[in-house]
Formats: sequence, structure tokens, C-alpha cells
Amino acid sequence: MDITVVVPLYNEDESLRELHAWIKRVMDENSFTYEIIFVNDGSTDNSWKVLLDLQSEFPEVHAIRFRRNYGKSPALFCGFERAQGDVVITMDADLQDSPDEIPELRRMIVEDRYDLVSGYKMNRSQGDPLSKTIPTKLFNATARKVSGIGNLHDFNCGLKAYRKEVVKNIEVFGEMHRYIPYLAKEAGFGRIGEKMVHHQARKHGKSKFMGWNRFVNGYLDLITLWFLSTFGKKPMHVFGFLGSIMFMLGFLAVLVVGATKMYCLLRGIPHPLVTSSPYFYIALTTMVLGTQLFVAGFLGEMISRNSQERNKYQIAEEF
Ligand code: UDP
Ligand code: MG
Repeated sequence: MDITVVVPLYNEDESLRELHAWIKRVMDENSFTYEIIFVNDGSTDNSWKVLLDLQSEFPEVHAIRFRRNYGKSPALFCGFERAQGDVVITMDADLQDSPDEIPELRRMIVEDRYDLVSGYKMNRSQGDPLSKTIPTKLFNATARKVSGIGNLHDFNCGLKAYRKEVVKNIEVFGEMHRYIPYLAKEAGFGRIGEKMVHHQARKHGKSKFMGWNRFVNGYLDLITLWFLSTFGKKPMHVFGFLGSIMFMLGFLAVLVVGATKMYCLLRGIPHPLVTSSPYFYIALTTMVLGTQLFVAGFLGEMISRNSQERNKYQIAEEF
């Protein structure tokens, strides 16, 4: 099978028929063999009914129904698990992404040998309000820096194409759909490309991602990923190191405090109280903090020693 299209959807009944007809037209024009997996993420409208109708008419339509709303990432994850096509395309259900992009996206995977090609929404300004596009720019700049994928302008674009191997080897969870390129890169799929794609205003219904908290969450997720990838497997190297340095500082400060005191005592100079020296407080805080950091690193090591994933590596081939 050439292509699997995975479509996560939450209350999009008005768009589904049109989306399906459009995808089908593009696939037929290019004579691709394909399947479409709709993942109904706990919709409370008629989406499931529409999907049932579609499936009875078209055998290439498949659907998964979540009992409740879990979010876009879990929906993608389940779609990825079932995908069988050599190239997997993800696409939002709201008709903002254009199925006309599919042939070129597939070509970039198959001929240009990309592992992942992410869409870059052109004429975005027509589709979304400023309150969405400006924070998005900031967000993408940070994501580029942290992930080290410098050539992506639009991490969160719903329209993406993957080599099948990629989707079978990454685990999208929580709200990590924003960082799939980062996850892919961490899993060793380094050829990540970008394609300008057409993007239109939402036709029906309204956006499921509104409000400012999505940026806070987005940044927290990015920090999590960054922590996991930089020292998730070696917490002691970071916390133990910081802890040791802190403790040494404290130790030096103690020496200063002790030596001054001794010196004054021996020479019979009237000596100030130990607690009136700034070094006393430096010693106190850094030694306490240092010990805590060290213990944090050690606990981290013990946890990762017990982790299910401690020996999970990406093996590309073996024989
Ligand atoms: N979506 C989903 N589960 C959710 C929220 C959204 O499956 O909990 C789907 C939604 O139906 C759409 C896609 O994810 O197909 C992108 O959502 P939306 O268009 O609302 O996001 P925006 O384009 O505004 O960023
Ligand atoms: Mg949308």
C-alpha cells in the first residue's frame, strides 16, 4: 500500500464528507493505493455516524472511536499503530490542510529520501487571528533552538508525511504532537524536511486549541523533552555534578570561616561571631543544596535503573 492518511478528529461532522471526497479524488488521480484512518477522539456530534456511512460506501475508510476525548496526540498514536502504507500522512479534519499536497509530500519521502516532511503553512494570516500567529512564531523559534532542527518553521502543522518506519518507532503521548519532528530526530530519523503548504481558514466549527495555556503547556512539554533527551538516561551526570560543585563551594567557605576563627583565637585577636561572616551562610546553603542535588541525581539513577525503557534502543537493522 502506498499511503495511509491518518486524520484525528474531534467534533468535525460537517467537514468529514468533503474531506474524504477530496482525499479520494487526489488518490484516484494519482492512482495511489491507500487507506484513510479516521480517529474519532470522543466526538459528541455526528462524526461517528458520518464515518460509519463512509465506511459502508468505501472500503478504504477505517475508523477508530475513542470512548472519550483524549487529545490529538493519543489519536495520532493509535492511527500510527494501525497504519500500513509505506508513507503515512497526517492531516487535520477541518479542511484547513489541503489533500492536494499529498503527491508532492509522498514524492519527497520516496524520492528525496526524507524521513519526515513537515508542512509549513503559507497564507496563514488569512486563516488564524494574530493572537495565534505571533505566539506561534515565538514558539517555533524556541523549538528550533532546543531541538536543533534548524530548518523547520512550523513544528505544529497538522499536515506531515512520514516514512512508515518513523511512525512505528516514535511514541506520541500527552500533547507531544507539537514536537513530533523532535521525537523523530531523537529516535534517529534525522532527515527532516519542510514543504510550503496551502492553508485555509476553518470552514466549519471552531478551533479546538484556543487560549494562552496551550503556550504554557507547549513550553513545559518542550522542557520535558529537552530534559529527557539531554539527561533522562544519566541523571547523576547532571545533578551529581552540580551537587558536587555546590558542596565544594560550601566546603571552601567552611574552611574560610574555620581558619579565620582559629587564626583570631591563636593570636588573641578579638574575634567576631562565626554567624556574622557571609561565608557562614554561603557554606550553609551550598552544602545543603549540594547534598540535595546529589541525592536527586542518585534517586534519578535508581529510578532509571528500574525503568522499562532503560535498554530500549533504536535498532535500524540486524541479521
Ligand atoms: N483534535 C482532536 N482532539 C482534540 C482536539 C483536536 O482530534 O482533543 C483534532 C481536530 O478535530 C482537528 C485537529 O485535531 O482535526 C486540529 O485541531 P484544530 O483544527 O482545532 O487546531 P488548529 O488548526 O486551530 O490549531
Ligand atoms: Mg485547524
